[in-house]
Amino acid sequence: MELDGNGACMEHDGKGTGMELDFGPAVRDFRDEVRDWLADHLVGEFAANRGVGGPTDGAAWDVRLAWDRELSAGGWLGVGWPQEYGGRGLGLLEEIVFEYEYARVNAPYRATVNALDLLGPMLLAMGGEAQKRRFLPPILAVEELWGQGFSEPGAGSDLASVRTRAERDGAAWVVSGQKVWTSFGIHADWLYVLTRTDPDSRRHKGLTMLLVPTDQPGVEIRPIRNLAGQDEFAEVFLSDARTDADLVVGEVGQGWRTAMATLGIERGTTLLPQQLTFEREAEALIGLARERGALDDPMLRRRIVDAWISVRIMRTTNLRTIAELTAGRTPGAQATTAKLYASTRHQRLGQLATELAGPAGQIVGEDYGLDTRQRSFLLSLAETIYGGSSEIQRNIIGEQVLGLPKEPRS
Ligand SMILES: Cc1cc2nc3c(=O)[nH]c(=O)nc-3n(C[C@H](O)[C@H](O)[C@H](O)COP(=O)(O)OP(=O)(O)OC[C@H]3O[C@@H](n4cnc5c(N)ncnc54)[C@H](O)[C@@H]3O)c2cc1C
Repeated sequence: MELDGNGACMEHDGKGTGMELDFGPAVRDFRDEVRDWLADHLVGEFAANRGVGGPTDGAAWDVRLAWDRELSAGGWLGVGWPQEYGGRGLGLLEEIVFEYEYARVNAPYRATVNALDLLGPMLLAMGGEAQKRRFLPPILAVEELWGQGFSEPGAGSDLASVRTRAERDGAAWVVSGQKVWTSFGIHADWLYVLTRTDPDSRRHKGLTMLLVPTDQPGVEIRPIRNLAGQDEFAEVFLSDARTDADLVVGEVGQGWRTAMATLGIERGTTLLPQQLTFEREAEALIGLARERGALDDPMLRRRIVDAWISVRIMRTTNLRTIAELTAGRTPGAQATTAKLYASTRHQRLGQLATELAGPAGQIVGEDYGLDTRQRSFLLSLAETIYGGSSEIQRNIIGEQVLGLPKEPRS
């Protein structure tokens, strides 16, 4: 299948279900370099934790942090970031090749993903020069970890209702309020926090994005236990927390623009590894169905085929988005539907796998020890919430893709 002018294509790898992606001659040397490095370094405890972790899965945290540092030492974090901030300065195609090779060997999910995929690109796009020089190198060196402080008890889907206040006090901002669901919050050294700096403002106006250090008396981070029994996310209480006056990303009063730019950083590069994980799960599902003799049941067979088709559609959708991005085009409507499709289909896949596993699928080990299948299914239930809930995704598709009348706004 031809993808674009770069000659990237995908072919069967001759091993049944798997597919080999070839991104074309221009990046073949680079691909080999990535492959060689991963073969040499993904060993020992790193190899023992292949496929462990996820965007909201804190499993094997310390090993994954050590792995991130290994990647950093090899110069593999920030492949596309400019060299002056510690990156490799390569292009989008190399970033995609790296992510693909990384996913192909099922390397552990990077613990620093929040800063790498969200804050870093936000700073590169909207941050001042001093901020980039101060914050980007420690992200790539895995010296400082970050949390995203957007959601509040009264502001999730409706982020414009943010109430956390920030006021100027000389050379500092003083921040008070509550944030919630901060992924990997208990590990965060810094937070990027959406605040209201104009007390008389409403909705999207008068908001400001601030970078706030967590190591101070005004910041209290309390873990929240998730369905998989992990203290993955946290609620954050800010009580006269202080940060330097110049740690505003973008402009004062323009925090909404900065926040939307961050939420808009959703690229095919990060979806591709996730999609390969789903494909592995679908393969395991077919193995399990075969083991249980479930392939003889026409109803189950139909659902299994449906699950398999879903992961193939995800792959094709991602490849389409990647092809458009590498060709310098704005991704089409399929990119807008990808999150809704992937999250709902992943849940369905997990539910089917749980059903096929029978009663054994519901028995947990000592100390609520979950196996990979159980953890994946339970964590998939949050996928239709974070990053914009399914209802919000449907609103976006309805309004922006299908051109339906806008939802009434109060
Ligand atoms: C695992 C996980 C990790 C997260 N990590 C972070 C993080 O690191 N940082 C951060 O800031 N936040 C994070 N979040 C928060 C996440 O962004 C919010 O949960 C999400 O935006 C939904 O907001 P809410 O929970 O306040 O639900 P609400 O907005 O209160 O929504 C409740 C229900 O109403 C529906 N609804 C709301 N508005 C509409 C509408 N206009 N039309 C139709 N239906 C609607 C929603 O779809 C949902 O079903 C995380 C959440 C989860 C589950």
